[in-house]
Amino acid sequence: MPLSTPANRPCNGKHFDNPFPVPQRSAVPQPPAQRKARRLVPRLLSWYGKHARDLPWRRTRDPYAIWISEIMLQQTQVATVIPYWERWMRALPTVNHLARAKPERVLKLWEGLGYYSRARNLQAAAHQILKNHQGQFPNTPEAIRALPGIGRYTAGAISSIAFNLPEPIVDGNVIRILTRLFGRREDPKAKVLQNELWSLAETLVRSTEDCAALNQALMELGATVCHPRTPNCNDCPVKRSCAARREQVIHLIPAKTIRPQTEARLIQAYLITRPGHILMRQRPEGVHNAGFWELPNDETGPARKLPKRARPIATARHTITRYRIQLEAYRVPDNGEAGQWHPIDALASLPVAAAHRKLLNSIRLG
Ligand code: SF4
Repeated sequence: MPLSTPANRPCNGKHFDNPFPVPQRSAVPQPPAQRKARRLVPRLLSWYGKHARDLPWRRTRDPYAIWISEIMLQQTQVATVIPYWERWMRALPTVNHLARAKPERVLKLWEGLGYYSRARNLQAAAHQILKNHQGQFPNTPEAIRALPGIGRYTAGAISSIAFNLPEPIVDGNVIRILTRLFGRREDPKAKVLQNELWSLAETLVRSTEDCAALNQALMELGATVCHPRTPNCNDCPVKRSCAARREQVIHLIPAKTIRPQTEARLIQAYLITRPGHILMRQRPEGVHNAGFWELPNDETGPARKLPKRARPIATARHTITRYRIQLEAYRVPDNGEAGQWHPIDALASLPVAAAHRKLLNSIRLG
């Protein structure tokens, strides 16, 4: 399995179709941090060559496949993503397939991954690729970044991994590694440190011919060795250069950012059935999880008057952004609520919001 980019696709600006020629190293002395960064590169590459996990999206250079993996991996663990990515690539193997798929099919393939705006952005981006790039995934960082749902990190990841371009990446993993290596205790969200981290990441990726491997080495080191709480420093290829380890302040770096307080919310959902059917409603545009199906409820519809002694037949808990949601299901008679009747035995193929799926799975229907 080729883990690094073939030598015939250099990325340090010498390649004739590289749209971003890299300035050649000048005789001007580099700041110490940049010099240190350059020295880390051979160790990172050598370690990655030996220790990279065999992940399905690492067996391809198809930018579409890499894009899908990168979007799925946002906020989601690798082990969770693998079956989703494989199912997605079987169902929608190209940009064309994604652009032409029914939105409900796309949501169904995403069901359970959460943060569903990612799935909607993927399809919007596929439409844009068809319209503006004749169905070919764009191959410049600017054009990639102009697609919906793609920020600087994702554009850098796709550019470097699929096209071996010298584009830096800075995400949570890279922030952790770089702040520890360079002993930076400031808030990593602060603009000044952010700029420095991007600059260091750029120095790293521009110091090698194998940009794809270098960026993936950073991702891999953060995911498998430099863990947030208990890093395996003994297995770290750059431990001798790690300021946080030397100064025994790993637990203080990166500095914690204060999270906003979470807010509890109680939502009542209504189980309304007819023989073999259940009333479901689609979440409206403009709300979280738009397009997904759910039980009628008092979050996106009017509240039902429940008898005083009504007890929920099922409860599901779910945390999303800053809300801790408790969703309670009450069996109620059909009062002609808005919604659509769905056969109970076809519920599994309907894209259903995660908390409602949890609730439905805990209720005996039929
Ligand atoms: Fe992370 Fe430890 Fe390596 Fe430092 S030595 S980069 S803390 S794994």
